[in-house]
Amino acid sequence: MDLRDSPDEAAFRAGVQDWLAANLPAEPGKEWSRRLYDAGYVGLTWPTEYGGFGAPYSHQAIVLEEFARAQAPNHMNVIALGMAGPTIMAWGTEEQKQRYLAKMLTAEEIWCQGFSEPEAGSDLAAVRTRIEETDDGFVVNGQKVWSSYAHLADFCILVGLGDPSAPRYKGLTYVIVDMKAPGVEVRPLRQLTGESDFNEIFLTDVHVPRENLLGGVGDGWSVAMTTLLHERGTLGFALGGALDAQVHRLVALAKERAPGDPIVRDRVAEEWVELQALKLTNNRALTSLMETGIPGPEGSVSKLHYSEQNQRLTKLAMEILEGEDDGYWRYQQLRSRGNTIEAGTSEILRNIIAERVLGLPRSR
Ligand SMILES: Cc1cc2nc3c(=O)[nH]c(=O)nc-3n(C[C@H](O)[C@H](O)[C@H](O)COP(=O)(O)OP(=O)(O)OC[C@H]3O[C@@H](n4cnc5c(N)ncnc54)[C@H](O)[C@@H]3O)c2cc1C
Repeated sequence: MDLRDSPDEAAFRAGVQDWLAANLPAEPGKEWSRRLYDAGYVGLTWPTEYGGFGAPYSHQAIVLEEFARAQAPNHMNVIALGMAGPTIMAWGTEEQKQRYLAKMLTAEEIWCQGFSEPEAGSDLAAVRTRIEETDDGFVVNGQKVWSSYAHLADFCILVGLGDPSAPRYKGLTYVIVDMKAPGVEVRPLRQLTGESDFNEIFLTDVHVPRENLLGGVGDGWSVAMTTLLHERGTLGFALGGALDAQVHRLVALAKERAPGDPIVRDRVAEEWVELQALKLTNNRALTSLMETGIPGPEGSVSKLHYSEQNQRLTKLAMEILEGEDDGYWRYQQLRSRGNTIEAGTSEILRNIIAERVLGLPRSR
């Protein structure tokens, strides 16, 4: 594997960097998201018939890396681009693809993910939200929690229990819920950082038309696995870029506040070495993605590595600052707590790595 950019990739990367230099700073939101699409930086690998650009995965990786490194605001449809879109591409009917995909890229329709429930997080098969079949579709009743963007969303990818009498994993059904439908109530939750990015969703007799079913009745587990594979699959490059930016800030902070401290120097150097390890893992993931088109288990390694390292280095920055709030690092430290929970907790990721990467016996 040659880790250097090819001439085509180098030219593409330079174009991304020039565009970012000309367009930053920017406010996150729908307008920014639309500008990203118009510039050709959203849906790079998606097929052109659904609004994408049919570009290689390496270009997608470059965009994620450069945007994270420049600390540019994300496209606001992160759930659609990373999860709902790839799932509809894999399982959706042609009508569903035509109906939903292009509007995800332009941020005309925002998506959220309704998987977690008060009694079902890591163990998705334990969801209790009921999806009952009717003559013309389904009726949904239950509660979801921690749904990022639900307060802004038009649609939700939702996993529920279709058949309570079926064996575990076989009773789940996966539907697209219109967040404006009668019976959908969103209640924002307040986070440690003071922000309200995620929500509870209460569903009372919500009618879901049959054409909003993804896969078949009872296929919910398999469809959900596609969603989760993609959630971690391409995330690694963005995480590598984000960590790159954090390590550079940490180096600058250490130079300014603790230039002669040998212990700080040692710990900062360790963070830099860990960053290189993450980048190499990401390159390995990219190679297998380009060969197979399917994200591999390396995504779990990158996510675990990033979230634990980010917590450690924000803690080091706060130590260097001796607890002073400089407006950046304290927020980063508080936000980093959620990193080891969202998109699979560290314990769950260690289980996945043990079983699917290292081939150790199953934990249960
Ligand atoms: C910032 C943020 C955004 C989120 N956004 C969304 C979203 O948009 N949509 C959505 O559906 N969910 C979302 N979540 C929820 C997230 O997916 C869950 O919090 C996560 O899956 C863990 O589930 P839980 O909170 O129920 O914890 P639990 O599953 O109850 O876990 C509790 C503890 O037990 C450990 N544990 C559980 N099972 C095992 C096991 N088998 N082996 C070893 N240890 C185990 C866990 O690691 C954890 O430490 C978000 C969470 C956060 C923090």
